Amino acid sequence: MQVYVEKPKCTGCSHCFDVCPVAVFQMKDRASPDVNSDVAPPDAQWKGEHIKEVTDKWSSVQDGHHHFAEKFEGGSGGISVAIQGPACILCQACLVECEGECIVITDDSNNVYKSIYK
Ligand code: SF4
Ligand code: SF4
Repeated sequence: MQVYVEKPKCTGCSHCFDVCPVAVFQMKDRASPDVNSDVAPPDAQWKGEHIKEVTDKWSSVQDGHHHFAEKFEGGSGGISVAIQGPACILCQACLVECEGECIVITDDSNNVYKSIYK
């Protein structure tokens, strides 16, 4: 199994980190040197800019999460990195919880699963 986060869309909500039963995700500060250490292709890597459509949707939402915060603190903020993709058991919990709809999973038969926010 391969898992990555399309980081320009990641709000930093940390839902993936919270729900994954096998600890695939880790939240990183946006300036962390290993923020692009999952298997995300170049256009899904963090280069310092979010996608406007996502910031427009989530910047003003007050649900207790540090949306688009530089650092991970207080349970949210920063950016999610899929540090343990091969551990994924395809339970799909993260796929319905991802605010940014930015998690991509590819199974061993090359089927691709993308998050759709519930
Ligand atoms: S689908 Fe995989 S990455 Fe997502 S929560 Fe389940 S085990 Fe974790
Ligand atoms: S659930 Fe999605 S938007 Fe939220 S931190 Fe994880 S990857 Fe980012």
